[in-house]
Amino acid sequence: MALVVQKFGGTSVGDAERIRAVADHVARTRRSGKDVVVVVSAMGKTTDDLIRLAREVSSVQPPREYDMLVSSGERISTALLCMALAELGVAASSFTGSQAGIVTDTDHTNAKIVDIRAGRIIEALEAGKVPVVAGFQGVSTEHDVTTLGRGASDLTAVALAAVLGAEVCEIYTDVTGVFSADPRIVPDAHKLSRVSFEEMLEIAAAGGRVLQLRSAEFARNHHVPLQVRSSFTWEPGTWIVEEDESMEQAIVTAVVHDVSQAKITVAGVPDRPGVAARLFRALADRAVNVDDIVQNASVRGTTDISFTVPRTQVAAAVEGVSEHIGELGGTGVTSDEGIAKLSVIGAGMKSHPGVTATMFETLAAEGINIDLISTSTIRISCIVREEDVERAARALHRAFELA
Ligand code: ADP
Ligand code: ASP
Ligand code: MG
Repeated sequence: MALVVQKFGGTSVGDAERIRAVADHVARTRRSGKDVVVVVSAMGKTTDDLIRLAREVSSVQPPREYDMLVSSGERISTALLCMALAELGVAASSFTGSQAGIVTDTDHTNAKIVDIRAGRIIEALEAGKVPVVAGFQGVSTEHDVTTLGRGASDLTAVALAAVLGAEVCEIYTDVTGVFSADPRIVPDAHKLSRVSFEEMLEIAAAGGRVLQLRSAEFARNHHVPLQVRSSFTWEPGTWIVEEDESMEQAIVTAVVHDVSQAKITVAGVPDRPGVAARLFRALADRAVNVDDIVQNASVRGTTDISFTVPRTQVAAAVEGVSEHIGELGGTGVTSDEGIAKLSVIGAGMKSHPGVTATMFETLAAEGINIDLISTSTIRISCIVREEDVERAARALHRAFELA
C-alpha cells in the first residue's frame, strides 16, 4: 500500500481542538487507502517554554539534561494524537524517537542521525496501525536521549520518509506553503507552487524557518518528494522539486529575513597568517556555528574581523575569541545582538547582473545602512539593524515585483 509521512508542527497540534483536527485528517488519509506515518512537534510554544524554565532553574544546562527535558514536549503530542485517533476508531501507537529507531551521534542538542532502525514502525504498519512518532529526537550510540536541533521535527519526517520509501513527505504547518517572503511580515507575499531544492536550501539557510535546513538537504540527497502545506486549510501547498529545464528561473524568488543572529567583532588583530585560523579553531572547538565572515583591509598591519553567530551562542563565541585576543595582540571583542540578516534569493540571478545594485539602491532609498554583505551564486545577504529589517523586507519585495 502507498505510504505517506505527515508531519504536523507546533501550531498545528497547539491545543485539543487542533489535535482532533489533525486526527481527523489522518483518519481521512487512511480511508483513502494509504498507510500513514505521523510525526509531531511539541504543542505550541512548549519547547520555548521548557528552555525558559531550564534557564530559570539554573545557569548551567548540561546538554544531556537539556535533551532529556526538551524532548518531552514531542512525547506529549504523540500520546494525545493517538488518543484522538482512538476516538475515531483508528488504531495508532505512539513512539519516542528512540523507539522509532532514530539512532544519532552523541552531539547533544544538535545530534546527527547515523542510522534508522525502523523495525518497530514497519511492524506497526503491518499490524494496520498508524505509527505516531515524536519528532526532533533520537537515541545516541551511548543510549542517551538526544535532540536534533531546533525545528528538526521536519528532519525526523523526511528521514523516516526516506527509509520507509514513502511516496511523499507532507510538512503541515501554519501557513499554506513556501512564500516569496514571510507572509507575517510581507502581507502581499505570494505562495510558490514549486520551488527548487537549490533555492529552498538557500531560503532555509538564510533563516526562512518554514522548512528546516537539514531536512531539505536530507530530502534532496535521498530523493524524497516533499510538500509544505497548511494544516488549517488543507489546500495544496508548495512542492520542493529538482531543478528541471522547464522551470522558469525567476531572477528573485524570495526575500528572507533572520533576526536570530548576532555580530561579533574582533578588533585590531595583526594581519598575518594564522590569526584567523587560531580564532576560528577556538570557535569550532566550542561548536559555535559561524555564518558570515568579513575581514576588513588592514590599516598599519592590523585588521578587524567580524562574523555572525546564532544569538544563543554569543557567550560561547566571545569566550572563545577572548581567550586568544591577548596573545594575538588584538584590541578587543564586541558583540551586537541588535542586527538582522536580509537576503534575496533566486536561481535566475546567475545569469542576470544588476540584482545587487537594485538591492543596495532599494535599501539606500529607505535610508537603511548596510553593515556586512555576503553572497552565494543565487543569494545576496546584507546585515542591517534589526529595527529596519521588516521595512527593508517589504521594500525589497516591492522592488523585485514579487507581490
Ligand atoms: P512549524 O511549527 O509548523 O514547524 P515554523 O514556525 O517552524 O512552523 O515555520 C512556519 C513559519 O515560517 C510561518 O508561520 C512563517 O511565519 C515562517 N516563514 C518564514 N519565511 C517564510 C516563507 N518564505 N514562507 C512561508 N513561511 C515562512
Ligand atoms: N519542538 C522543536 C522546536 O521547537 C522541534 C520542531 O518543532 O520541529 O524546535
Ligand atoms: Mg518548523
